[in-house]
Amino acid sequence: MKIGIKAGLAIMMASLLALPVLAKPDKVDGNNYPSGRIPQEIKNNKYPRSYFPNTEKIGKDEMRITACGTGMPTQTPTNAAACFLVELGNGESFLFDMGVGATDRLSGLELDYSKLDKVFASHLHTDHVGDVASLWVAGWVGGRYTPLQVWGPSGAKPELGTKAHIDHIRAAWQWDVSGRAGALPNAGGEIIAHEFDYSKTTVIYNENGVKITSFPAIHVMDGSVSFRLDWNDLSFVFGGDSAPNKWFLKEAKNADVVVHESFFTPEQWGKISGMPYKQSYWVTSIIHTPPQSFGKIMSSIKPRLAVAYHYWNHRDVEFEMHQAIRTTYNGPLVMAADMTVINLKKDHIEVREVTFNHEAWAQGTSREWDTAPRGAPATGRMSDWLKAGTAKEMQIPPTQPLK
Ligand SMILES: [Zn+2]
Ligand SMILES: [Zn+2]
Repeated sequence: MKIGIKAGLAIMMASLLALPVLAKPDKVDGNNYPSGRIPQEIKNNKYPRSYFPNTEKIGKDEMRITACGTGMPTQTPTNAAACFLVELGNGESFLFDMGVGATDRLSGLELDYSKLDKVFASHLHTDHVGDVASLWVAGWVGGRYTPLQVWGPSGAKPELGTKAHIDHIRAAWQWDVSGRAGALPNAGGEIIAHEFDYSKTTVIYNENGVKITSFPAIHVMDGSVSFRLDWNDLSFVFGGDSAPNKWFLKEAKNADVVVHESFFTPEQWGKISGMPYKQSYWVTSIIHTPPQSFGKIMSSIKPRLAVAYHYWNHRDVEFEMHQAIRTTYNGPLVMAADMTVINLKKDHIEVREVTFNHEAWAQGTSREWDTAPRGAPATGRMSDWLKAGTAKEMQIPPTQPLK
């Protein structure tokens, strides 16, 4: 059956009228929130018991820290690998490590991907940077229209440093990225490495009142670091994997929220991994920090809140670990699980869990993403013979004008 031109035009007009409103994020105080979500201001430090993403405004002077991954290279269904998201009251966001599985957790927060463009990598183990490529592409498809920027340490030689790592990620995913280029904003397809000297205590980021300092950590080989973020008279310290070390004791002193690994005791790790004691001791206590040493570190630096992570959150393991920490530290402590969220203010610290929709989709692309410069779709570069093989009779006709 053929449809006449007039009837066809009528159908097109009718479908134009029925066009759904695109579910674009809403702007609230200049920030994007999922369509229809109205975040509330928290008054008098009275926080709801659960944190529902995008329902609360961050106070102007407040820092919100979310553990998006607290585990290890061997992930479990409850532990993605290392990743902490820091959101500031000035609207900026910073990611500390991007371990395997962390992008899953980030999606549950229904965030504006255009803000997740700064990653600070403590070292180049998969449980700390294994999802950098995932964030690079997922963030680009999901709303980022600027390059993904990764700050990370140098190594003992150039091929062991962050620049070489990122150069190889870019090369390894060339098919993926060049195929999306054109359909997506050009700049979002870029990934930029900012490599810094792992051996120096040095300010590696200093913009808009946010200062991030890197200092050496002791972990298997040269090239692991920890970070301290200072903003608005609040401080957050993120320990990369390390044995107890003098730089951490100095730089984390009296900080507000201090995150440090608390690896298993040698006995626990021997049981879990099946390693003989000698090897288990080396892993837990020479290249990592066991819970008793975590406690000693926190007793020395006295943070407003100590945060332990980097272990298996199995309840039996966690109880033993908590007991071991308490033999050496009796201050404020959080055993972080994935989706533990900490609101930090000068006069208050609130610790809760995120309650999120397990089928959540990120908040969607914004108008800024729509209008960012693009090239031509990669399908234009496909071989003619391959294109000619399209089974056109199997394709569906458009229901809306293709403009
Ligand atoms: Zn690790
Ligand atoms: Zn490591």
